[in-house]
Amino acid sequence: FENLLTFHHQMEAVSHIAAGVAHELRNPLSVIKGFFQLAQLTNEYQKYYDTILAELNRMNVIIEDFLSVSRRKMERKLQSPMHIMKSLVEIMKAECLLHNVEFSMHLKETSQFINVNESIIKQIMLNLLRNSIEAFGKSNNNRTFEIRTLIENGHYIIFVKDNGKGMPKEVLQQLGKPFFTTKETGTGIGIPLCKKMIEHHGGSFKIESTFNVGTTVILTIPLIEH
Ligand code: ADP
Ligand code: MG
Repeated sequence: FENLLTFHHQMEAVSHIAAGVAHELRNPLSVIKGFFQLAQLTNEYQKYYDTILAELNRMNVIIEDFLSVSRRKMERKLQSPMHIMKSLVEIMKAECLLHNVEFSMHLKETSQFINVNESIIKQIMLNLLRNSIEAFGKSNNNRTFEIRTLIENGHYIIFVKDNGKGMPKEVLQQLGKPFFTTKETGTGIGIPLCKKMIEHHGGSFKIESTFNVGTTVILTIPLIEH
């Protein structure tokens, strides 16, 4: 019964975003339909293929981004936060190396646990890394990505910091709204999903950012005594 109950809550958390995703898929879908009709009317198929393909790709990205978090089984378990963070080191290092980013991680030791779905926490961290890498753009020097953890008031706090391009006020104000993106091929699903998922774990999600200086995401997850 307890499992059913948490499952219900988890579905609620995702269904809000799912409704948005469905809504968002309608736009490219209606463009595709319209362009097919145009092609049919004018018999000029070639002319419309690029747009149709671009819209199909866009749908694909939206669906992939959404599924990456929502299709996971969402059972939670008591886990060592140290263990979860350490298991991310190799993949994050590799990603950073690939994108010419200096990676560092400073973990606060703790024997306490957090009650989480490990794969969702990893997905959130990888999502944040992806945003940071995208925020470095093509700038060449001094690209750093840092993870630092603290323990405060019975919470495990994770700071995820980059010195990428940061966000101007206009962007910060909009942040967290589903589908808000400043990227040509962005989906605007990453941050809202991360926020929802962390809140769903009883935690909180905060972003601090200064334009041209960098961005810090602060995740807070309750620690469990045992
Ligand atoms: P997407 O990455 O698909 O655009 P997100 O929800 O992940 O969607 O992010 C929304 C927007 O927030 C991005 O388009 C970008 O403008 C801004 N953003 C997110 N993370 C960062 C970051 N680390 N540095 C600068 N801007 C960021
Ligand atoms: Mg993103």
